Amino acid sequence: MTTPLRPAPEVSREPDTRETRRAFLAERLAAVRSRIAHAAQAAGRDHTGITLITVTKTWPAEDVRLLAGLGVRDVGENQDQQASGKAAACADLSPALSWHFIGQLQTNKAPSVARYADMVHSVDRTSLVAALGKAARRTDRELRCLIQVSLDGAPGRGGAHPDTVPRLAALIADEPLLTVAGVMAVAPPQEPAERAFARLHRVREQLLGDHPGAGVMSAGMSGDLEAAIAAGATHIRVGSAILGRRTPAR
Ligand SMILES: *Cc1c(COP(=O)(O)O)cnc(C)c1O
Repeated sequence: MTTPLRPAPEVSREPDTRETRRAFLAERLAAVRSRIAHAAQAAGRDHTGITLITVTKTWPAEDVRLLAGLGVRDVGENQDQQASGKAAACADLSPALSWHFIGQLQTNKAPSVARYADMVHSVDRTSLVAALGKAARRTDRELRCLIQVSLDGAPGRGGAHPDTVPRLAALIADEPLLTVAGVMAVAPPQEPAERAFARLHRVREQLLGDHPGAGVMSAGMSGDLEAAIAAGATHIRVGSAILGRRTPAR
């Protein structure tokens, strides 16, 4: 018995690119969540104490919406222009997204960042504390601030010298709508990440003495999240392992 020929499908056979992208993101997100769980287990830590921030820089707002549908709540961006546009395009989502500003920040962008960001990871100088404090008062929004620490003292990538952290923290604490939430760093390329992150952890421990609410340690990206979790990171910032390789490279 032969199967009757089926009529040609009337619907387009073009792949649904949105659905394809959703499936891609779902798979990569699951893989990163599993890496986090394994790293936490290896470090004897509870993985629920680790917040995954999905870094969506260079990717469209549509990706952020797909990620939100997959349970992502924390989103990281490193450029005000991109971040403000995407935050506006996603403002209708419920539950609301939490926006993390993770890039080097010019003081003239502080008023814009204060409108959508919940946490600024890159506070590294007194002029920026003043600008963010003023902007937060203007918009009447609270901003949680992380002090970005330079772990190798190299200029250019941003970050404060570890010795200046107590002074920056005191200035942040003096601003009515800014809070000292903790520390952030990017691992320097020339040494094992875990050793560098261990120094960041010590800076955070010292900070906690004067600022008991400063529990956040933001460290670890696609390539070194295991090292960061081993060193005590509470927030990790993952872009390419979830969204794919960025072009042009950043
Ligand atoms: C881009 C970026 C990340 C994410 O990097 P990936 O390697 O893509 O995971 C994390 N932190 C900062 C500060 C970034 O600029």
